[in-house]
Amino acid sequence: MRSTAGSTGGRRHVPWWAFAVAGVAATAVYVAELSRTTSVLAFAVIGVGTVSACFAGPRRFGAQPRAAWSLMGAAALCFLVGVVVRPWATTQPYPRDLLGDAATIPGYLLLGVFFAVLLRARQSLERHAVLDGLIVCLAGGLASALLLAAPAAAVPGRPPAESVLAGLYPLFDVMLLLLVVNLTFTATTWPFSLVTLLGTMTLMVVGDIAYAIIGVAGLTYASPLLDVPFLLAYVLLGVTALHPSVAQLNRAARRPVQAWSRRRMSLLGPAICVPFLLLVLVGGHSPAYRLSIAVGGAALVVLLLARAVSAVQAQVAAQLYSEHQAVHDPLTGLPNRRMISAHIARLVEAAPPEGPHRVWVCYLDLDGFKWVNDSWGHDTGDQLVIEVAARLRAAVPAAATLARVGGDEFVLAYVGEQAGALKLVEEVQRCFARPLPVRDTEVVISASVGIAHAAGDPNPAVTAEALLRDADTAMYRSKAEGPGRSTVFDVSMHDRVRERIELEVALRTALAEGQLRVTYQPIVDLATGHPVGAEALVRWEHPQRGAIPPVTFIPVAEDAGLIGAIGTWVRKQALSQLARWRADGTVSDDFYLSVNVSPRQLTDADLPLIISAELMQYGVPARAIALEMTESVMMDGSSVTARVLFELRELGVRLLVDDFGTGFSALGYLRRFPVTGVKIDRSFVSGLGQIVEDEEIVRAVVAMSCALGLSIVAEGVENRRQRDALAAVGVTQGQGWLWGPAVAPEEFAAGWGAAANRDQLAAGNS
Ligand code: C2E
Ligand code: MG
Ligand code: MG
Repeated sequence: MRSTAGSTGGRRHVPWWAFAVAGVAATAVYVAELSRTTSVLAFAVIGVGTVSACFAGPRRFGAQPRAAWSLMGAAALCFLVGVVVRPWATTQPYPRDLLGDAATIPGYLLLGVFFAVLLRARQSLERHAVLDGLIVCLAGGLASALLLAAPAAAVPGRPPAESVLAGLYPLFDVMLLLLVVNLTFTATTWPFSLVTLLGTMTLMVVGDIAYAIIGVAGLTYASPLLDVPFLLAYVLLGVTALHPSVAQLNRAARRPVQAWSRRRMSLLGPAICVPFLLLVLVGGHSPAYRLSIAVGGAALVVLLLARAVSAVQAQVAAQLYSEHQAVHDPLTGLPNRRMISAHIARLVEAAPPEGPHRVWVCYLDLDGFKWVNDSWGHDTGDQLVIEVAARLRAAVPAAATLARVGGDEFVLAYVGEQAGALKLVEEVQRCFARPLPVRDTEVVISASVGIAHAAGDPNPAVTAEALLRDADTAMYRSKAEGPGRSTVFDVSMHDRVRERIELEVALRTALAEGQLRVTYQPIVDLATGHPVGAEALVRWEHPQRGAIPPVTFIPVAEDAGLIGAIGTWVRKQALSQLARWRADGTVSDDFYLSVNVSPRQLTDADLPLIISAELMQYGVPARAIALEMTESVMMDGSSVTARVLFELRELGVRLLVDDFGTGFSALGYLRRFPVTGVKIDRSFVSGLGQIVEDEEIVRAVVAMSCALGLSIVAEGVENRRQRDALAAVGVTQGQGWLWGPAVAPEEFAAGWGAAANRDQLAAGNS
């Protein structure tokens, strides 16, 4: 294992603050010039310490890019050699006096590459920053060339190489300045290491300017004080490398960097003033000076213009991008609802009032998308949507416009004849014929389509929103008929939607105002005619509209989220009724009540706990309760539902499959889930004694149920022929109008209570 900062095991590392203290102390010793040995030692501590810090620190903190910090280490080494050699070299005759520079110049180049690599990693080399850097550097370069380099080069009696070098150092600093300025322009956060790195560069520039100033005086080395900025720069560089925040130096600026920030202006403003200042200060020296200032000034103006143009371009690009984002779906890149609405509105406006051409709007909703999302997660759902969008895009002709308007909803807009529109829908449906790759596997899904059209509509004020709404309504109609269907909107659907909404509103008050009742239909032993149980069935007596059948309002309750409340109410009514019947002897101990549960109710993970509490509250044994659910419950694949079913079974309640045979007929679930019995749907019962196939089906169900140890109830038994046929194939229990419909509890007790049983037996079996 690699050791980290401050850890005791493995290699120990010098903390940054210890390095800083030692560095400053060593600098002080160096400046004091106690003896040659102490000076050399102090120098070695700083130099060797910094170079090794540059190699070790960033590696320890995982600073990226790795190559950059090796470059920095090498640069530090070059400068170190340069500084060590310089005092001795300057006493040597030409050209050996240039040995110090021979080490320092590669150091500058390496440093330049280090910054370039770092800036690239930070994604900081954007056009504005480069232009700003160039402007500042051009101004700085002009100033340093005229104020420092030219006088230094003009010192008489020096070999030309020396003069060139003397003029070169200020230009190196200009290059450094360019890079450092770039770094600050794009910095939106200021980690400690960035601050110390900037300090390092500032000290280096200060040191170089100091040398340049003595260079103007014709000197190349004066006193150890001149080395102080460099020594401190070294110490700061070491601190940069040893501070944990060194790993943040390469992080890209997150927030978009402002093109004209105050920080930029505070550097650009003085830069622009430089030519004017130079004109005042040194303009009188010679025509060459004035020409340089003029050329430099003109170059600055050109750069500023380029800068302004680039800022405007960036602004326009950003504007276009945000406009595109506002009307497109980020996941698929397709137009979004806003854009397709506007497009449809334009089509409707331009549509010819008569003739076969119309504006068609198709609303597409994926079937089973929720299932993919729930069982595989949203990432997979997104992947599926992207895949579907790609397929649709390929299938839809250029004449139609495709948009994504919701999670799994797409819209197509098309102008043309009806045949063309229907062909388009066909093409779209065909997209789903092939399975779609999802994760490592493939899924087969389909799409329900609703189609609406404008023109020829009796209402002339047709809008894009109305067309979308109608197509959406038609799509729901398709969904209700099963997956993969398409439906063309017609006005009667509006009425149905309105009625549904009215029903929902009425249903919300029904429960509170006591409009619901529970009725009981006997479940009878075919052999004896005794009631073995009863099914609790809810009834709604609407004050104005009269009785509303459960097949009408239960689906509404499910959609409106009311089924939980209604289901709980029915169950409690049934339990308290059963408790009373058991107490007063109306029913025997093995009599059970069957209660319907909706798929929605079984997704409530707390349901087993709630039912167990209710059983205790009413003092009813679990075995006296059966829960009826349709096959779809077990087919929906939800893990919550499965757990709920197992926990319910553990409680001891019976679990029955209602309307058995009408659903998916994939019988595997009978073994996978803890069901205790099936209720054969009345559609199979009605044909008994007349249709041979129905008899065969019932026979097969009986054989299978016996094999799996399941109880069987036949539903909808209306006559004796059916009852006898059922008994003949081995069905033991039945429910239906032969014995009576669902009735109020008092009537049930009177007709089916223990006292009435004997008479009933005689009547039913005769
Ligand atoms: P289901 O659970 O299959 O209930 C049996 C339905 O068949 C009942 O209709 C019953 O009145 C009817 N029926 C009984 N015997 C005969 C017969 O001999 N011939 C014919 N043709 N029909 C017969 P109902 O009461 O209209 O209930 C319809 C459906 O509504 C039920 O089907 C059940 O799925 C649902 N439902 C009823 N009450 C509740 C409830 O409290 N909660 C939930 N979630 N659903 C309920
Ligand atoms: Mg039922
Ligand atoms: Mg049923």
